[in-house]
Amino acid sequence: METLIDNNLSVYTFGNKKADGSRKMKNLLGGKGANLAEMSRIGIPVPPGFTITTEVCTQYNEEGKDAVIARIEPEVRAAINSIEETMGAMFGDDDNPLLISVRSGARVSMPGMMDTVLNLGLNDESIKGVIKMTGNERFAWDSYRRFIQMYSSVVMGLKPESKEDLDPFEEIIDHLKDKRRIEQDTQFTVQDLQDLVYDFKDIVKKRTGKPFPTNPWDQLWGAILAVFDSWNGDRAIYYRKMHGYPEDWGTAVNVQAMVFGNMGEDSGTGVCFTRDAGTGENVFNGEYLINAQGEDVVAGVRTPQQITLLGSQRWAKLAQIEEEERKEKYPSLEELMPEIYKELFEYQNKLETHYQDMQDMEFTIQQGKLWILQTRNGKRTGAAMVKIAMDLLKEGLIDEKIALNRIEPRKLDELLHPIFDPEALEDAEVVAQGLPASPGAATGQIVFFADEAEKYKNSILVRIETSPEDVEGMNIAKGIVTARGGMTSHAAVVARGIGKCCVSGAGALKINYKNRTLTVGGHEYHEGDWISINGSTGNILEGKVATKEPELSGEFAELMKLSDAYAQMEVRTNADTPKDAEIARSFGATGIGLTRTEHMFFEVDRIKAMREMILADTIKGRKQALKELLPMQRSDFEGIFRAMKGYPVTVRLLDPPLHEFVPHQLATQKELAEDLHISLSSVKTKVAELEEFNPMLGHRGCRLGNTYPEITEMQTQAILEAALNLKKEGINTKPEIMVPLVGTVEEFIQQKAVIDQTAEEVFKRRKDTVEYSVGTMMETPRATLVADEIAKYADFFSFGTNDLTQMTFGYSRDDSGKFLPIYLQKGILKADPFEILDQEGVGQLIEIGTQRGRESHPGLKVGICGEHGGEPSSVGFCQKVGMNYVSCSPFRVPIARVAAAQAALNEN
Ligand code: PEP
Ligand code: MG
Repeated sequence: METLIDNNLSVYTFGNKKADGSRKMKNLLGGKGANLAEMSRIGIPVPPGFTITTEVCTQYNEEGKDAVIARIEPEVRAAINSIEETMGAMFGDDDNPLLISVRSGARVSMPGMMDTVLNLGLNDESIKGVIKMTGNERFAWDSYRRFIQMYSSVVMGLKPESKEDLDPFEEIIDHLKDKRRIEQDTQFTVQDLQDLVYDFKDIVKKRTGKPFPTNPWDQLWGAILAVFDSWNGDRAIYYRKMHGYPEDWGTAVNVQAMVFGNMGEDSGTGVCFTRDAGTGENVFNGEYLINAQGEDVVAGVRTPQQITLLGSQRWAKLAQIEEEERKEKYPSLEELMPEIYKELFEYQNKLETHYQDMQDMEFTIQQGKLWILQTRNGKRTGAAMVKIAMDLLKEGLIDEKIALNRIEPRKLDELLHPIFDPEALEDAEVVAQGLPASPGAATGQIVFFADEAEKYKNSILVRIETSPEDVEGMNIAKGIVTARGGMTSHAAVVARGIGKCCVSGAGALKINYKNRTLTVGGHEYHEGDWISINGSTGNILEGKVATKEPELSGEFAELMKLSDAYAQMEVRTNADTPKDAEIARSFGATGIGLTRTEHMFFEVDRIKAMREMILADTIKGRKQALKELLPMQRSDFEGIFRAMKGYPVTVRLLDPPLHEFVPHQLATQKELAEDLHISLSSVKTKVAELEEFNPMLGHRGCRLGNTYPEITEMQTQAILEAALNLKKEGINTKPEIMVPLVGTVEEFIQQKAVIDQTAEEVFKRRKDTVEYSVGTMMETPRATLVADEIAKYADFFSFGTNDLTQMTFGYSRDDSGKFLPIYLQKGILKADPFEILDQEGVGQLIEIGTQRGRESHPGLKVGICGEHGGEPSSVGFCQKVGMNYVSCSPFRVPIARVAAAQAALNEN
């Protein structure tokens, strides 16, 4: 573990190929700060600066602003001095002013969550110095107006008045453009920019009641505190919750000398990736703009150009631009500035090798000099994550252990989700073309505002561009489309991070927020209309387009193989149908850990017999109805056993409360009465009798089998006869019969007796036998406490952590939705315990149950079949406890396989 304090510094400086910090100090300096220090150390040209530690942020939250400023001020002043020396400029000087940037930087990158201020230090006096130094009046005024715009929104909190309103500064800019009859920002004259500065200051004063600060030191402290405050902003809190990052991490503040990409035609700025973040392909790629500042690339106001010639040609092909036009209007950096390109190419190589991972870098060219502003491990899609890890392994840059640990198991989900059905795609009409910002396929109904993404079950969020406020809605929507912005725009970066399909920069879309319309190619779409988007090609398609299951790549198969080589636990699946079983097998499940038999009873042809059984007043009546159910159950089991080809299958006896099977509506009650030739009133009486105050704690689980042993008999008979039939086909199944919801050993003993007795009868009648075992679910706290007793009779334990969580917390599985979100929001709970296993509490019971069980039954087979069996952190816990297997839903099998491998690897 990295120690936070190693020399009592609150401020760490970097630049000039030296640094106080290093990459190992991420927790203290934040990801960005640690990387800036590291880059400086290894000889990458970064603009000089300093990092205020994350610890100061935590102190700020605890002690408040005055105490913190007083403590760190001397260090900040000294650090500014050191930048001044390197850059040969003075902060706050009128003749030769040093301009700086202030950025946030938590220990993990949180795109768009935290705020940035550029050009800090400008005021009515220092601008004269900038003009004198650069001889570029236009640039100076442009920087000044950008600074006011950013500072006012980030630090002073100036925002549009409503979501339909434009940004107040953009409104002033648009107004001026209309007045001057111009279209581009670049067409503004110096006078225009000066007018903008005055108008901007005016609106700041009007809207905030405060004048825009002129003293650079006031500006600097304002910005530093705004970064700290943004750690507790709604967006940051939401992002932290989404990813489970703790609140007490805090953010660092990075202060750095400004370098300018907008100082003319020999300047520029860009973003690049050492490999393709969408596909993982090993090609250097990225985008840049000449005569622009960083936010121009990210905000997508202008369409960026490609860095490499190859990228540029690929882009032109997609955009249907002829080679001549491409060369002239959109040349690559490789063509336009070959020397700079060469240098950049070397740095990207050096950085990827140094960090042994795909890097996402930002750079600026200031009057022919290249500066690297930042590098970080690049966000990537699930597909890219797998390909890059496997490629780096093959290239010998990382070993198997690192390759496996590079996989975020949860992200594999993206690879397993639908793509467009190629046939449906052939007939689909392409209405517009954007950039393939985040791969995948989505079809849904249009919404124009992120906070309305929930309006439809499947919504596509259509925006001119997205901003950090939209992240929550982007997460809910099935896909995202933007009219502006490149591959590194906010929409693209966030979408890739959360694995959401996204098409960005579809310039042909005309979006009108007020009317809630989207116009393209003469067609007007309204909110609620269906469209489809292809994040792999950038196509936007008319209407609904059918999707299908994806095919998995060679690297995916390699990853699975690698996982199995390290995993110690088996990964089984929860499957109730042959189809589910087959999907799970194709994903590598090596058995079924849970077949819930009740699901089979809900099908139309069975529910009648089931109801007849429940409504019967006598054993004879019940047995008669069960007889009808027997062949259906038997054929269900045959299907499942056949699909599993001899792999173990655990079948659980009937579990849910019986009232779930009877009709509660008058019409269906009448139908049932007619079907069974009994009176409506007797149906009603029986339904009323079955009603329970707490059905989850009522007549369910083995309490059913113990009160109606004939149900257990029928199910056992169906299971074993199915296995015997399969044996004839040459498939040897060893069914594992599982008793649910046991709390006392006697409950289990009596059920086991019924099962064994039935087995004896079946084998005698069929003159044949199969091997079978009888085990129990561990779902009640009591069962875990008396596990040593139960294990004397049970062949295996399977932890049903859904019910165990319910009973340990005393939270109803069905009603927790009413309070859990508030508990999470208030921090009473860190995570939903039904999703992520509560290792601290429920975990103790699992440990006790496993230990005690194995004390009286050495080598007892133990597994888990609650929802947690496919959740990576819970899988890690299962390994620690020494379980033999985890069982999860079919689509989570690959996730569990990687999580099991990681758990085994990281245990040693
Ligand atoms: C459980 O309780 O964890 C379990 C797997 O059973 P069910 O969800 O069917 O109650
Ligand atoms: Mg259960």
